[in-house]
Amino acid sequence: MAHIGIVGAGVAGAGAAYALRETAHDMTLLEKSRGVGGRAATRRRNDCRYDHGANYVKDADDRTLDLLHELGEEGLVDVEEPVWTFGVDGQIEPSNRQESHKFTWTAGITQLAKRLLAETDAEVRKTTRAASLARDDEGETWTVTDTDGDEHGPFDALLLTPPAPQTADLLAATEWVDDDGALDELHEAVAATEFRTIRTLVLHYDFAVDRPWYAAVDVDKEHDVGWVAREECKDGHVPDGESLLIVQMGPEWSTEHYDDPLEEAADAVAGRVADLVGDDRLTDPDWVDDQGWRYALPDTSLDPDADAVDPAADAGLYLAGDWVAGEGRVHRALWNGVEVGERVGDSL
Ligand SMILES: Cc1cc2nc3c(=O)[nH]c(=O)nc-3n(C[C@H](O)[C@H](O)[C@H](O)COP(=O)(O)OP(=O)(O)OC[C@H]3O[C@@H](n4cnc5c(N)ncnc54)[C@H](O)[C@@H]3O)c2cc1C
Repeated sequence: MAHIGIVGAGVAGAGAAYALRETAHDMTLLEKSRGVGGRAATRRRNDCRYDHGANYVKDADDRTLDLLHELGEEGLVDVEEPVWTFGVDGQIEPSNRQESHKFTWTAGITQLAKRLLAETDAEVRKTTRAASLARDDEGETWTVTDTDGDEHGPFDALLLTPPAPQTADLLAATEWVDDDGALDELHEAVAATEFRTIRTLVLHYDFAVDRPWYAAVDVDKEHDVGWVAREECKDGHVPDGESLLIVQMGPEWSTEHYDDPLEEAADAVAGRVADLVGDDRLTDPDWVDDQGWRYALPDTSLDPDADAVDPAADAGLYLAGDWVAGEGRVHRALWNGVEVGERVGDSL
């Protein structure tokens, strides 16, 4: 029986484990955080639950719809209100580009990775940050060492799913002798994949913000605010009579203000949101929260023709994630994880 290692328990890592669930292989996921889901993340605070990374999974295609339903109808939430848009003039207006379904769960979008992993026998080692990788002298297996110095493996195949810059760091700390230059080439291709930064601000109000839209998105990319969403449109997320706004700031603002103290950043953001939504009361949230996503969304994707991808796979080293798929969307990361998982299974 082979042992498969997966670094990262976001939707790509969980998707890969799901694809391998009916094989007899042992699977171990190493995840640096305390929970699974990665950028499809949910937090709980003051009776509220909010998705502060990915907002929802869209109904991209039939296989996504089918899978979401197969994973269980209980708690599945379809956000009914539409996404509107705003441009340089700051007017929030109806959009004709509507998605018919926008899915999350009453317990939050982390349910996707949780439900995928619940279908498997995979072991998830949380709060375990992979620091370096090594190929054994016989060239048969991979070992991962974490930041505490503990070793994981040996793995017959190893799948890396962190965002490209973090995967590049791992490849820079990899020992693989007799690789015919594959490691350097792989590192170069991964390191060339660019990500943009988003800082998410969470603004809570003890009154309802009544609007016909669930969210509004900046289509001209000219505003500091990139996205504002009413989390109360998701069943089970916000108590009645309250409002919780998820505000994703544009990449420029996010990079410039990434390390500003929370209160200072929230003040600045609440002012912009009040202007945009046209409600002065929004300048004064009763509590706030935030999350910096240094590696939020891929701007470019891994070159699928990069010379080193196939030799690495031949040596049992695989890559998956939204940046491999070429788009920062949950369903793209999920299906890329599934497809690479199937490839790993076929190779063993
Ligand atoms: C603010 C924001 C809003 C978004 N909105 C949407 C949306 O509405 N709809 C949509 O479809 N998509 C959205 N996305 C994109 C979507 O979240 C991602 O495309 C998708 O979740 C990526 O999944 P992944 O598994 O490829 O990567 P990740 O989710 O990043 O998973 C990688 C995992 O690896 C772990 N990790 C990293 N380094 C290590 C290490 N050294 N050792 C161990 N573990 C490690 C991380 O903790 C993480 O759990 C959004 C993203 C952001 C940031």
